[in-house]
Amino acid sequence: MDRRRFLRRLGSGAVLAGAALGAGCKADRNAPGPQPQGAGAASFKPVKWKMVTTWPKNFPGLGTGANYLAELITAMSGGRIEVKVYGANELVPAFEVFGAVSAGTAELGHGASYYWKGKSEAAQFFSAVPFGLTAEEMNAWLYHGGGMELWAETYAPFGLVPLAAGNTGVQMAGWFNREINSLEDLQGLKMRIPGLGGEVLARAGGTPVSLPGGELFTSLQSGAIDATEWVGPYNDLAFGLYKAAKYYYYPGWHEPGTTLECMVNKQAFDALPGELQIIVSNAARVANQDMYAEYIARNNQALQTLVEEHQVEVRKLPDPVLARLRDLSAQVVEEIAAKDALSKRVYESFQRFRQQATQWSNISQRAYLNARSA
Ligand code: CA
Repeated sequence: MDRRRFLRRLGSGAVLAGAALGAGCKADRNAPGPQPQGAGAASFKPVKWKMVTTWPKNFPGLGTGANYLAELITAMSGGRIEVKVYGANELVPAFEVFGAVSAGTAELGHGASYYWKGKSEAAQFFSAVPFGLTAEEMNAWLYHGGGMELWAETYAPFGLVPLAAGNTGVQMAGWFNREINSLEDLQGLKMRIPGLGGEVLARAGGTPVSLPGGELFTSLQSGAIDATEWVGPYNDLAFGLYKAAKYYYYPGWHEPGTTLECMVNKQAFDALPGELQIIVSNAARVANQDMYAEYIARNNQALQTLVEEHQVEVRKLPDPVLARLRDLSAQVVEEIAAKDALSKRVYESFQRFRQQATQWSNISQRAYLNARSA
């Protein structure tokens, strides 16, 4: 993100009204808030932190969201914490981020908790669950429904403090070169879809494959796969996936509100004075909200481009297909609960919240959106 854009955002953030942009940080005369004062301000030695990420450097939305969080921490701390961001493979490979922050190789890591299933089954509940919570509901569960406490408990054995640090909102079901008119059409469907969604597709008769983002386009174009999910219009347009597939299906049943994370090495976090701990935690809250807002805004724009300029055919998955995927998802998610005692507690908390959230969302968001469309 360029400096001007960052400062524009900074100026618009109410939470940042008191942010001090001082020594160690590129000060701007238009920046809000007081400058650090007194002997301490001039004499402090900045804490230098590294942030490793699971995203390519500057990847739209996810990588830029990590950059924004790093800049926020530096700006809000008045330069007392300097954060340098590393894209995937720059310091460690994408899937070694968790281990690197746990070991203290880096103090911060930006990723998604479902990548760490191999470390902890329970971790999967804190990013995206098929037919699980939306972005608003995830934030409600995490911040006011006991989710953050359970997440902290899940990461504590690894010496990590988790923070929610972004959300993609509802994703798209994906790009297909085969029409999906019935459950029959899922039989033998070779689709790139990772994680729990992939397991659900397998049980519905499909063949999930795992591929890094960079291989999606060629695999789809060559016919090596019949379909792929990625994120949503904003990221999918950038990848040019519309050139390799006929149909763009919705909704993203498998990732209804994917939470991105910032994990902090606990030893490094505990060594900070209290006010800097609060700054790091709240910078993540700002970044969490900002990424979601960016996704909504950019997805709206990108969808128009896909439909109007590239004549993409947008289709809804048939209701019987969604119903079957929903039943299978319930089975797959329930099986995680049987893996260990912590997973069972997280599952129960998540399910309880999902039930309550469904009741409220039905008479608030859903009722309103239906009324608006009518
Ligand atoms: Ca996805």
